[in-house]
Amino acid sequence: MSASDITDKLFTIRYKCDDKSHLVIKDTGTCLSCVTKDCNYFCPSDVYAWEKKLKITTVAYENCIECGTCRIACPSYNIDWVYPKGGHGMTYKYG
Ligand code: SF4
Ligand code: SF4
Repeated sequence: MSASDITDKLFTIRYKCDDKSHLVIKDTGTCLSCVTKDCNYFCPSDVYAWEKKLKITTVAYENCIECGTCRIACPSYNIDWVYPKGGHGMTYKYG
């Protein structure tokens, strides 16, 4: 599948953003001592980014496509993941 195919697929996603994040970093100190920063690589939507100056992991939750990877892929299980509350989150458009 080419990059443009993936881009086309992403255009089939609609997202209604909540004003409260459904993704929460449990402990910022754990991120500080995390050497691999896996979340910066495993998320297909680039939700997580390590901010060197601030020494925090930022969470762009409005980009989340709810794949669930971060529930299990953080080596310290340091991400609290819940489904967005009713009426929010993403929907797929078919056809
Ligand atoms: S992988 Fe987990 S512990 Fe490491 S920076 Fe990301 S959220 Fe923090
Ligand atoms: S559920 Fe998937 S898309 Fe959403 S933040 Fe986690 S890894 Fe990224």
